Amino acid sequence: MDMTPIYLDHHATTPVDPRVLEAMLPYFSINFGNAASRQHVFGWEAEEAVNIARKQVADCIGAEASEIIFTSGATESNNLALKGLAEMYGQKKRHLITTAIEHKCVLDVCHHLEKKGFNLTVIPVDHEGRVDPADIKIAITDQTIAVSVIMANNEIGTIQNLKAISQITRERGIFLHSDIVQAFGKIAVNVNELGIDLASISAHKIYGPKGVGALYVRRKNPRVKLAAQMDGGGHENGMRSGTLNVPGIVGLGKAAELARFEFEENFWRYIRLRQQLFEGLCAPISQCLLNGPAVLPESILRSYGTAQEASKKILRLPNNLNVCFGNVPADNLMMAAKEIAVSTGSACMSATREPSYVLKAIGLSDEKSRSSIRFGVGRTNTDDEITYAVSRLSQAISVLNSVTHN
Ligand SMILES: *Cc1c(COP(=O)(O)O)cnc(C)c1O
Repeated sequence: MDMTPIYLDHHATTPVDPRVLEAMLPYFSINFGNAASRQHVFGWEAEEAVNIARKQVADCIGAEASEIIFTSGATESNNLALKGLAEMYGQKKRHLITTAIEHKCVLDVCHHLEKKGFNLTVIPVDHEGRVDPADIKIAITDQTIAVSVIMANNEIGTIQNLKAISQITRERGIFLHSDIVQAFGKIAVNVNELGIDLASISAHKIYGPKGVGALYVRRKNPRVKLAAQMDGGGHENGMRSGTLNVPGIVGLGKAAELARFEFEENFWRYIRLRQQLFEGLCAPISQCLLNGPAVLPESILRSYGTAQEASKKILRLPNNLNVCFGNVPADNLMMAAKEIAVSTGSACMSATREPSYVLKAIGLSDEKSRSSIRFGVGRTNTDDEITYAVSRLSQAISVLNSVTHN
């Protein structure tokens, strides 16, 4: 049976789970109402569905339903969070702090705000991609509005110590925003335990539809106020106008619920498949170098307890792998093994042909970065697919190596 092409790029996007699709379908046709129509049953049904989804998303991160604002995706959520804060508090304070390994959209928003006259501090990371909370503490001034730190990186999977960072931001009365897109459903996320004030979520990274996401905005201790970036009918507590994407929101809610109910099972599956991939690729290839934090074997992680507990101790996403294959350019490797869908890094960056700024930030040379490949294992990958991918890539690497050596 031909199992190709094999998809191992789940940080870029994921397929919609059939159960998510099924939940969405009625909201395109039978229940097509506008959730803002208050005067008839079509509107009420749509509003009810949106409220259920709001609760489903909130329950995944320990939030209240009223703290979830639906958006068109995490890019919009990140824009709304940072521009919304800057505009709301910018009369009094003019400084923002972020890190060198944020998603491109966060960095772009920060640079946009810098052009508008805000001061920006970009905190560097260590060789595993970790931010030292002490560096954030030093960077804070009485002008600082907010700190934005990605919870888990989309290229090297590094998980940040948000708890330690929020202790610092809380003490200084500064907001903490986190892009939790890659962390959601993969590791335990509780906004109260972690002290996060705003968090960005995307449906299509968690087996939901594209073009829908959410922003968590804390309502008490402290209450976060945002300037809307979209003016209009005042939907979503006035923070995000525009008719709600009811089918998309229902899909996001269902995807979140599945991520929560099946967390344990998925976590161990990711760990097992990722280990198989890592050992298969790196054991026989002497030039294989791991980028980012250690890949811990299942046996060690099991000793930490449940998946929830283990996920609080790890420094790397369970489904992420990023490796450098000696001098073999990643582009050549992907060309030689086209039936294996992997990437050199963020999908948002691959158009630019620049080497990854994330790999640069952890100290890789441009050459090593161009020889690195990101793998994102998914819920539907099988042992057989991993076995096939390993043998196909290993074969392509040895062919390419013999070519370069001749
Ligand atoms: C994919 C991704 C985004 C962008 O999400 P969209 O919903 O596609 O706009 C933001 N941050 C991270 C970490 C991502 O992986």
